[in-house]
Amino acid sequence: MRHINIPIFIPHVGCPFTCIFCNQRQIASQLEPLSPSSIPEMVERYLSTIAPGSEIEIAFFGGSFTMMDVSLQEAYLEAARPYLRQGIVSGLRLSTRPDGIDAATLKRLKKRGVTVIELGVQSFDDQVLAAAGRGTVAAQAVDSSRLVKEYGFKLGIQLMIGLPHDERAKDLYSTLVAIRLKPDMVRIYPTLVIAGTVLADHWQQGCYRELPLHEAITTAAQMLLMFQYGGIPVIRLGLQPSQELQSEQTVLAGPYHPAFGELVQQYIFMLQAKELLHAAQSQPGLHGPINILVNPRDVSRMVGQQRSNLKALKQELGLEPLKVRPSAEVALDEIAMEFPGQIKKLTLKRGEFIRSMIDKGLLPYDAAQL
Ligand code: SF4
Repeated sequence: MRHINIPIFIPHVGCPFTCIFCNQRQIASQLEPLSPSSIPEMVERYLSTIAPGSEIEIAFFGGSFTMMDVSLQEAYLEAARPYLRQGIVSGLRLSTRPDGIDAATLKRLKKRGVTVIELGVQSFDDQVLAAAGRGTVAAQAVDSSRLVKEYGFKLGIQLMIGLPHDERAKDLYSTLVAIRLKPDMVRIYPTLVIAGTVLADHWQQGCYRELPLHEAITTAAQMLLMFQYGGIPVIRLGLQPSQELQSEQTVLAGPYHPAFGELVQQYIFMLQAKELLHAAQSQPGLHGPINILVNPRDVSRMVGQQRSNLKALKQELGLEPLKVRPSAEVALDEIAMEFPGQIKKLTLKRGEFIRSMIDKGLLPYDAAQL
């Protein structure tokens, strides 16, 4: 069943924190605070566009829900209640800070029908958290994640890459810590320099260098592979594209791309195909034209934007001709290769590919540590 969130963005008016990447204050100063009485109209508008048979949740995003005044939280949850009671939506979801969680809060949210809590962890490295002005530490995120699960909520963990003092090794460390906490879902966001933020000041003063797009893609790809190996769904890679984010006046710098997640998936397919092509080249007798077979839903990921993957593979491995063909017999994320005129066929499933990356030391995934 298709899952759909009805997103209700609540700018956190009066948020006492000053995370350097966040422009909530600016947004909050420009927007009228969202009144709980306007929620039904927003929900109805969304509902009219959703196909029947979908699993729907009302999702309170933005800011830090549990850090708002309790009476305001209750008013928002109360506004969503009729949809829950009538079975129109299956649950309520909210995002908050790790230090906005305690047992009493969780008991209250449980009674109100909240089913999913996403924690804006950003990093499990204390130096990165301090430099980002988060005002909390990694141990708090670990404790809160455990508590959220203990109280029977689904847990989401949001991580950011490219914050000041961050580096790839720290992102992979954060990934390992997150896997250990067994979240039900993860979101990965590259850091963008948004106008009006403290980070924008640092960037303008030359104290912060944004993560280049290619580096963001390769780091996010490693994280995605590790989460896949840990059996944890990554439900979002990169910010949801919007007109505002397309504007150079909003995003001053950083690895923004409207299809960031697709670029990450395409990069992984390229690496996986390369591994299989190397295996083919090392086998005597396998030469001549090669057909790469992938699931029909994976064809564009295998081919890459403007055929970039095919061009890179041909160039790097000196292969010609190389074609991509859809095949319903190939599983999602799997790659098969056939050699016209020859019986032999090679396949590489995603799990096998990740295992081989771990064995080569390219992914720091040590199951013994988990
Ligand atoms: S990220 Fe959240 S906690 Fe940090 S300043 Fe923005 S709204 Fe406040």
